[in-house]
Amino acid sequence: SITLSNRVKAVKPSPTLAITARAAAMRAAGKDIIGLGAGEPDFDTPDHIKAAAIKAINSGFTKYTAVDGTAGLKKAVIAKFKRDNGLDYQANQILVSCGGKQSFFNLAQALLNPGDEVIIPAPYWVSYPDMVLLADGVPVIIEAGQAQNFKVTPAQLRAAITPKTRLLVINSPSNPTGAAYSLEELKALGDVLLDFPEVLIATDDMYELILWNKGEFVNILNAHPGFYDRTIVLNGVSKAYSMTGWRIGYAAGPAPLIEAMCIIQSQSTSNPTSISQVAAEEALNGDQSCIDTMMVEFKKRHDYVVAELNSIDGIECLPTDGTFYVFPNVEKLLSRLDGINDDLEFAEFLIEKAGVALVPGSAFGCPGHIRISIATSMTNLENALLRIKQAV
Ligand code: PLP
Repeated sequence: SITLSNRVKAVKPSPTLAITARAAAMRAAGKDIIGLGAGEPDFDTPDHIKAAAIKAINSGFTKYTAVDGTAGLKKAVIAKFKRDNGLDYQANQILVSCGGKQSFFNLAQALLNPGDEVIIPAPYWVSYPDMVLLADGVPVIIEAGQAQNFKVTPAQLRAAITPKTRLLVINSPSNPTGAAYSLEELKALGDVLLDFPEVLIATDDMYELILWNKGEFVNILNAHPGFYDRTIVLNGVSKAYSMTGWRIGYAAGPAPLIEAMCIIQSQSTSNPTSISQVAAEEALNGDQSCIDTMMVEFKKRHDYVVAELNSIDGIECLPTDGTFYVFPNVEKLLSRLDGINDDLEFAEFLIEKAGVALVPGSAFGCPGHIRISIATSMTNLENALLRIKQAV
């Protein structure tokens, strides 16, 4: 038998990708499964973006590019930060990667030494803790449950910081909860960090454009412009432009850190796909009305699903600020269902008995919940809720 590295043994495969694969396999075997597990919009990539990529192929733009991204895409990223976030960056402060996932992976690899701590509020995007572990870092989880609207408090943050803390991760609006921090809340969290100048901040703004509450999007740099030299902004085109398969994410931050991340990338993937970069450039520079179309639909589904879930005895679902997820608490429901002890068993029960695939909250560090993706048609959502109601 083959002896594998301790590194790989310390992590688990992405549970969200696993549930999607399981649902696909059951469907292929003839089972009628409604998938509410997906972490991607159900819309097609807009036509003008596809057209830019087709043109790139036909004009022979099919070779290696600079590792950190083409000049054109980096310019579009810089313009986007200026336009949407009021942030100024130079080209040497931008790194384009193969998805937002690689951006964070590069960051962890470039920043962490063995034993370095990364503070991750739970519920968290499933991949943060594992990517920290892959970099020999230590994930330090702060629990921010439903009672506090899934947001960490300044006191919790202060209590979690140790001399080994290198990084705080903020993801707002959040996968899986859909909760977004307000400017005031970010100001208060940042005030704690004023006392710990050596702690860096990663703000994962992947869902920036899928936001309906709280008015304009804000991140920690809007609340604390003075953190410019210790903050890395992560974003990408996957969610906002329905481009998950194209694999383009980007990071902006202090030049020495971006340069280090670029070295990691140069020895792993090299540049992201040349064709996808042209498509991403068009996404950022082109007509933005495609986002509005998606938003209207997501909001409609959100309102429906939240109301329906709350009408089920034992389920409590907070309305979200954005994203295409809702994250209901099902603890009371579990306590009245015989033979189902936790959210993992509940998710198993739903896929087997109701034909509804979704991700248990434990995967996000928050047991007693389930994550429902609303990135599917209204008909699917209606049928899924009917099935869930009948099953419970
Ligand atoms: N950040 C968050 C919070 C996410 O939910 C995701 C995708 O699920 C990503 C980053 C990475 O996106 P991608 O690698 O597909 O660009």
